[in-house]
Amino acid sequence: MWGCFSRSLGDTINGGTSYMTTDAPAVVNEVVIREEECKGCKRCIDACPPRVLEVASHFNKMSYHPAQYKGEGCTGCAICFYTCPEPGAITVIRRRA
Ligand code: SF4
Ligand code: SF4
Repeated sequence: MWGCFSRSLGDTINGGTSYMTTDAPAVVNEVVIREEECKGCKRCIDACPPRVLEVASHFNKMSYHPAQYKGEGCTGCAICFYTCPEPGAITVIRRRA
């Protein structure tokens, strides 16, 4: 089963398919940050329980250092999504095997 938190999808949690198989690939949660929407406030970084978000070293087009995902460890809790003041900046994708 999977779900997605995204303001671009209307703040809804979308249910998906459930399946069971013996050779399913490993699936992981993911957070996607649209860096051009990010104002670099760091709220998501401070709020993330497992501390898997960080400040990027580069600037976006608005001259902010955007938040970025470290690449692993996201629990799919969506706290970052609810903390972010910028609509469309964060999408959390939940995946469950
Ligand atoms: S969904 Fe939760 S664990 Fe994943 S990046 Fe956001 S706050 Fe951190
Ligand atoms: S809370 Fe939103 S605007 Fe602030 S750093 Fe995180 S993604 Fe960027």
